[in-house]
Amino acid sequence: MSKKLVEFRNVSFKYGEKEPWVLRNCSFEIYENEWVAIIGHNGSGKSTIAKLLNGLLFPQEGEIIIDGQQVNEDSIWNIRKEVGMVFQNPDNQFVGATVQDDVAFGMENRGFPREEMQQRISETLSAVRMQDYRLTEPHRLSGGQKQRVAIASVLAISPKVLILDEATAMLDPSGRKEIMDTVGRIQESNGLSLITITHDLQEVVQAERVIVMNNGEKWKEASPREIFSEKDALRKIGLDVPFVAILAEELKQAGVSLTAAPLN
Ligand code: ADP
Repeated sequence: MSKKLVEFRNVSFKYGEKEPWVLRNCSFEIYENEWVAIIGHNGSGKSTIAKLLNGLLFPQEGEIIIDGQQVNEDSIWNIRKEVGMVFQNPDNQFVGATVQDDVAFGMENRGFPREEMQQRISETLSAVRMQDYRLTEPHRLSGGQKQRVAIASVLAISPKVLILDEATAMLDPSGRKEIMDTVGRIQESNGLSLITITHDLQEVVQAERVIVMNNGEKWKEASPREIFSEKDALRKIGLDVPFVAILAEELKQAGVSLTAAPLN
């Protein structure tokens, strides 16, 4: 049995005393090396889950455990070493003047030795296939390339959990495919737990498990195949199953490589 890395135990959350609950009694577990997709209509609570996982917010009820540690004010600095996040807008994630400066930034903040930093920059830029852009200024990159660099910057810290919160939402179809292919490769070779948050059912195909959120509650948790078999129920909660997602799932079941599958 693989190790449990993330646990949400009966978590409820609201943004203020007088605000409504935006998560209600939400429980799930994520294991080492697992790829879990969290999907739901806009406003269903997905980003709130991401922020709770990273200690940007804390639940009023229930608890969140990451690699054996409860997420609270005392543990957030440890938690943030273990949980890396990539957000929606590629332009909001750059701090360095060049791609390699950007990847170095998070490591500098955490006091990594210089020699180790150079090696990690090479490794992580290779992992996202951006090694030829080390000296490029980030603003010259395409949206997909920027997100790949953002992923490299997070990987450089060696997190145990990588969360992509709508990381493809601002990209064109080729950029989206670039990112999904990249994270698929990384997850296979690095063995980290991957959580991809999306409102697009097409993006859950590669995940091993899917958590479907509806109005702040976990509506269902199952394999992509089982989820897609409930097209009508999904439509009722604002999610459409695109034909290509069904096709891609069929191809995956038939053993056809998904990186070659027509996901766009
Ligand atoms: P999703 O990521 O699924 O679109 P969110 O987690 O962003 O959903 O939002 C869930 C609910 O919380 C929505 O009703 C949203 O309006 C509300 N919400 C999100 N952020 C805030 C905030 N900072 N203050 C108050 N309400 C918020």
